[in-house]
Amino acid sequence: MIPFNKPYLTGKEAHYMYEAVFTGKLSGNGMFTQRCQKYFEDRFGFKKCLLTTSCTDALEMAAILCDVQPGDEVIIPSYTFVSTALAFVRQGAIIVFADSQDGHPNIDADKIESLITPKTKVIVPVHYAGMACDMEKIMTLAEKYNLLVVEDAAQAVDSYLIEPRAKSQEPRALGSIGHLAAFSFHETKNIISGEGGMLAINDDRFIHRAEIIWEKGTNRAEFFRGEVNKYGWVDIGSSFLPSEVIAAFLWAQIEHLDEIQNKRKEHWNRYYEALKPLADKGYFSLPVVPEYATNNAHMFYLVFPSFEERTKLINALKKSDILAVFHYLSLHSSPYYKEKHDGRVLSNCDRFADCLVRLPLFYEVTNNDLDKIIETIKSIYISEF
Ligand SMILES: *Cc1c(COP(=O)(O)O)cnc(C)c1O
Repeated sequence: MIPFNKPYLTGKEAHYMYEAVFTGKLSGNGMFTQRCQKYFEDRFGFKKCLLTTSCTDALEMAAILCDVQPGDEVIIPSYTFVSTALAFVRQGAIIVFADSQDGHPNIDADKIESLITPKTKVIVPVHYAGMACDMEKIMTLAEKYNLLVVEDAAQAVDSYLIEPRAKSQEPRALGSIGHLAAFSFHETKNIISGEGGMLAINDDRFIHRAEIIWEKGTNRAEFFRGEVNKYGWVDIGSSFLPSEVIAAFLWAQIEHLDEIQNKRKEHWNRYYEALKPLADKGYFSLPVVPEYATNNAHMFYLVFPSFEERTKLINALKKSDILAVFHYLSLHSSPYYKEKHDGRVLSNCDRFADCLVRLPLFYEVTNNDLDKIIETIKSIYISEF
């Protein structure tokens, strides 16, 4: 059986967890937490990072920081994971679902402006498959209408925006562009800690309050730095920070980030090159890397002309003991939200929900396995002649 995903261990996870245990500091915001946060700040240019117990938690912190109130509108793509919308729904927001692009599952930035009303407060672009949304357009809109931008960068660690309209600029790390950004270290992502996440804060206005919300509404982080001589209850919040044991695990992954990314890109390219001839014949389409985006090889997917064609592929792979899986169901027609949705048809989103399939992609998948997957796909179409 070739699984869809297999979590990769770099080798030092248990060692660092042991170190955390025997240092005797097990709760959050200790040495490993600060080491991880500093790494992300230094390498990717995030102003301030806070580890969280999940990306969902980081999104919830973002929704609180944006001061989203009941009745406020938040623009979110419908083709995304539940958490992107859920975090804002918990604050009482009305979710205005946006459609995907024609040729890419990412939000269609050209259609956002028509969704903005006086009640709009936040736009939440999701970098699907770790590829940048058109952030230049989105940030311009946000500035024009005085909106906040929260990047759902759950899949987008070590991926970049290239700004074609500002050629002199260096590529900017995804998660460093919006006012706030949320990352995931769930075991299905590129680097992992089982469950885990991080909030990146790029706007100075939010840093002080973020630390308080992170620590149950108290100013404990300041107290630990010796900036105040007692700490107490100063705001709302929750226990959003992970234990040192989780941060220790994550540190072992961070140490191997480049190696992990390079290996994943090799796998991704092997699929791309081998399947291109079939895509050229029109059987399915391959992932498109937008001109303004880099690829962190989070995911390799195919988009079929119909639901039936996709089902045929999934079944054929299953028969050969290969697990390929489809992805999101449109949130605007979910059992929870369909009655609340304003009725707009989001046809690109529905098409990706029906026609997109993800192929196995993980560090330890072998070239033999990849070739077997590729040959199985080819054999379906060759037998059609
Ligand atoms: C994985 C993922 C999440 C949720 O991450 P958790 O860490 O499991 O909470 C949210 N949004 C997107 C786009 C994701 O891929």
